[in-house]
Amino acid sequence: WRADREIERMVPTHCPYCGMQCGLYLLVERGRVVGLEPRYDFPVNEGRLCPKGVTAYLQVHHPDRLLHPLIKRDGKFVRASWDEALDLVVARFREIQAKHGKDALAVYSGSSLTTEKTYLMGKFARVALGTRYVDYNGRLCMVSAAAANLKAFGVDRGSANPWSDIPLAEVLLIAGANCAETFPILNKFLWQQRDNGGRWIIVDPRQTPTARQGDVHLQLRPGTDVALANALLHVIVEEGLIDHDFIANHTVGWDEVRSTVARYTPQVAAEITGVPAERIVAAARLYGRARTAMVFHARGIEHHSHGVNNALAYINLVLATGKIGAPGRGYGTITGQGNGQGGREHGQKADQLPGQRSISNPEHRRAICAVWGISEEELPPAGVSVVEMFERMRRGEIRGLLSICNNVMVSLPDTNTVRRTLEELDFYVCIDFFMSESARYADVVLPGTAWSEDEGVTTNGEGRVIKINRANDPPGEARHDWWIVCEIARRLGRGKYFPFQSSRDIFEEIRLASRGGNADYYGMTWEKIEQNDGIFWPCPTPDHPGTPRLFEDHIFYHPDGRARFHAVEYEPPAETPDEEFPLILTTGRVVYQYLSGNQTRRIKFLVDQCPEPYVEIHPETARRLGIQDGERVRVRSRRGEGIFPALITETIRPDTIFIPYHWPEPQAANLLTNPVLDPVSKIPEFKACAARIERLKGG
Ligand code: SF4
Repeated sequence: WRADREIERMVPTHCPYCGMQCGLYLLVERGRVVGLEPRYDFPVNEGRLCPKGVTAYLQVHHPDRLLHPLIKRDGKFVRASWDEALDLVVARFREIQAKHGKDALAVYSGSSLTTEKTYLMGKFARVALGTRYVDYNGRLCMVSAAAANLKAFGVDRGSANPWSDIPLAEVLLIAGANCAETFPILNKFLWQQRDNGGRWIIVDPRQTPTARQGDVHLQLRPGTDVALANALLHVIVEEGLIDHDFIANHTVGWDEVRSTVARYTPQVAAEITGVPAERIVAAARLYGRARTAMVFHARGIEHHSHGVNNALAYINLVLATGKIGAPGRGYGTITGQGNGQGGREHGQKADQLPGQRSISNPEHRRAICAVWGISEEELPPAGVSVVEMFERMRRGEIRGLLSICNNVMVSLPDTNTVRRTLEELDFYVCIDFFMSESARYADVVLPGTAWSEDEGVTTNGEGRVIKINRANDPPGEARHDWWIVCEIARRLGRGKYFPFQSSRDIFEEIRLASRGGNADYYGMTWEKIEQNDGIFWPCPTPDHPGTPRLFEDHIFYHPDGRARFHAVEYEPPAETPDEEFPLILTTGRVVYQYLSGNQTRRIKFLVDQCPEPYVEIHPETARRLGIQDGERVRVRSRRGEGIFPALITETIRPDTIFIPYHWPEPQAANLLTNPVLDPVSKIPEFKACAARIERLKGG
């Protein structure tokens, strides 16, 4: 079809959606993006794209793009000039802070932004607004894995190994990750491993397309991962499959873990998880006896009120067998958002500063204050997670919110409470390129850039920092996000701290701010990144090639160089089924939609494939309730209800139902979910709450 076009440029860049960050070329004709082609020369996807990636260019010139600033007057948005809109934002921010203090404003950011923008949001909150309240939507995604990684290894990089290690593993243990639908192109590596004779152990309450391909499927009850992982380790210990030398020389805390897992026999775990004991034994032997093996997990085990413990339980398996730090021997968490990894590296997380530094560490604070040119007293203390920020908004402690690249009306748990909170805010500003369900509640909406208009870097799920290139100019009066944020800072009188004239200027500051931190970018340049198809961090010096595989020398990032075991006990989800709500509701994704759907719900091809959410029900449960396939049913929890068509399928457990979460109310899965948080990572428990199904009258 290119023959009919006058393509003037093919711009190499990356898909805006998941953490695979597949390489592609945007095709530009007369300044407009008119198509795309996969990059055969990019090692992650080698010419492959999933349905979302293939159609991603259709959002660029979509008729729904926001083209000028909007101010709400008498409940309706009216067009405004940039001066009008920005002056209003600055005046209201000043007023709120003068009346209620600096911390009366909050910033809520995203991880589908370039790393330059994520860095800017953290700095903007702390230096321009002087508020402690800044967080990002990775809080709903990767933070349990991140916290577990920090605790166990002393560093948070989603994957300790490059994905090219996957085909080298004899066995893959994949827990809570439906790769086939959520990271489709990762399957390239999985199938290569299978072609090499590899085996798969899949842990998932649903028989997903990935689970169906597994050699052993452990179809556990949602939220019982600690019991399962402890039992796997129990069998590995019993059968003498642990690596004594590795444990003795490179770890701390094994004795406590050994005595904890001793109680988790396969029979005990079978009772808790619903997985037959013999299957647990078979899986443990498969993983334990393999010379090379890798463990991967994702949101399925992390979206829990014990998400960090779930991840630690699987890490214990890796450490006890010493299967880490070598080709085909490793561990990884699979990133959901495009820049989920980069978004938590440089300081937009409530408790972190650039370079993955701790905001509570005096030395780290000093290092960043020196780069930013502010005094240590000026740098606010740690903030709180986004769900906790929303609690403080409800209590009136936080009165104003600036948000960018997120859609809380779809993505936060307990939508009814989120809606009331947004309605009660004194002032709410959204930067976005489409009007989201959340932006409708804003006082001011500022039109920003879509992915093809950006330049900068992202970090994919394996820790590879890659270059995003600009193909077209922002449409209408839309402006670059970095410009909007710097302009607000300038009008607040803090412009000297935000002298950036381009995204590249911000990257240069990131290099300095990350120097010496875990996520060290100092040795990178945009050119070096492009020339090498990405650079894995840490990359501490200009002549450093980057670090595709962590821990090759078995030196971990804790001060003594040793990894940490953590003894973890099984605790049930915060809400378990009872007479009133007898089923477990779990939520997740479908291949045709991305996160809150603000982009993908506008692409006709994707909508045609999956036009609305549904509730998966096991045939036994459906029979008991008299429900037919396709019948619309009401699903209720203690927080809300929604009406969904029933999808009757044997792929789900009889005690569990599943709803994908990409849609807004009245069919938002998050009308039902429980906002209870993991005590460490503060991730909400999206993957398990009590629910019931009701037939509609006459249904
Ligand atoms: Fe885009 Fe992810 Fe699909 Fe690749 S796998 S094309 S990055 S959505």
